[in-house]
Amino acid sequence: MSDKLDTKYVTAGRSKKWTKGVVNPPVQRASTVVFNTVAEKNHAMANRAKQTLFYGRRGTETHFALQDAMVELEGGAGCALYPCGTAAIANAILCFVKTGDHILMVDGCYEPTRDYCDTILKKMGIETTYYDPMIGEGIRDLIKPNTTVLFTESPCSITMEVQDVPLLARIAHESDIVVMLDNTWAAGVNFSPFDHGVDISIQAATKYIVGHSDVMLGTAVANEKHWDQLREQSYLMGQCISPDDAYLAMRGLRTMGVRLKQHEASSIKVANWLAEHPLVDHVRHPALESCPGNDIYQRDFKGCNGLFSFVLKQSDSKATTALLDGMSHFSMGYSWGGFESLILANEPKSFNALRTVAHPQFEGTLIRVHIGLEDVDDLIEDLEQGLARYQEMLSA
Ligand SMILES: *Cc1c(COP(=O)(O)O)cnc(C)c1O
Repeated sequence: MSDKLDTKYVTAGRSKKWTKGVVNPPVQRASTVVFNTVAEKNHAMANRAKQTLFYGRRGTETHFALQDAMVELEGGAGCALYPCGTAAIANAILCFVKTGDHILMVDGCYEPTRDYCDTILKKMGIETTYYDPMIGEGIRDLIKPNTTVLFTESPCSITMEVQDVPLLARIAHESDIVVMLDNTWAAGVNFSPFDHGVDISIQAATKYIVGHSDVMLGTAVANEKHWDQLREQSYLMGQCISPDDAYLAMRGLRTMGVRLKQHEASSIKVANWLAEHPLVDHVRHPALESCPGNDIYQRDFKGCNGLFSFVLKQSDSKATTALLDGMSHFSMGYSWGGFESLILANEPKSFNALRTVAHPQFEGTLIRVHIGLEDVDDLIEDLEQGLARYQEMLSA
């Protein structure tokens, strides 16, 4: 087996055991698995956690192929599948906490992750402390005797700060804390979680893995130490997915390498163009120096993708509406990672409700874009015209 990523996208999960000799693992739909002898049933029972057909909720061969593919791409000992990224996050945390525990959560996490901590975990008597994504060594001071999980997301949602995950993980492990990473932005491949001290790497596979904006799916890959607990407790909470969705995720995976390279090349070109635009204050693209944590990105990541933000010099809702309403190639939409370009605007004041310790240090409107696979010059022209509409409305 090759350890080169471009080859892995093609081969991952495609052992003959699952494909039966055709190219793609067939869709195997099942609730009931039937046995003809007691010995067969006993064998399935004994091996039910080890990719042996036993009961639909434990997965079928289509699921086993996707689980193998994820482990081949990210590393680790096993992959649990969830109906969406949010379910993967909620369940992974729940598998490793109990009433009276304390967790550390990055302040720039995905909004539903924060809401989950502030409602569900709080209700169960689990306390959350939010930490500044750029905290570094300072994380030590936030650890309590009852801290059991450190959860990172790098780069952060919307504001894009890249964190020193290896440092955070090393400090957390001194206190036997489980380190979880929302690895969606890196698509599990541009940041190798297990080489950087992560115990459980979570993804909204909804994004780049599926890659076509048509399936909701979550994955959590765990190292050897945490795999049994993650798998068995997620199973007890009934987490499972349809084999059709597993099939589509594998189909997306096959082209993820070439898609990511194109998203990366186009997004860097757009980001550099935006950085020179007179209406733009700064660009928050992890591959650009103007992004907090760019040095860490350079050290730890293998590449980027199409998702980044830029901040305008001013905040003017009428002008921003003029920009957004007239776009030709960018639509407004939340779930990125598909082939299409997206745009959303965020006012810094709306962030203040979403950040506890790392409040935005800028005044202007933040625009988040997902640079899709369209011709990059079309996208730049679209943004150029959008910013011209913005300027016109400002001066009107
Ligand atoms: C989209 C997203 C999620 C949630 O995934 P869903 O599949 O939509 O539930 C979680 N984390 C990050 C960083 C995301 O971008």
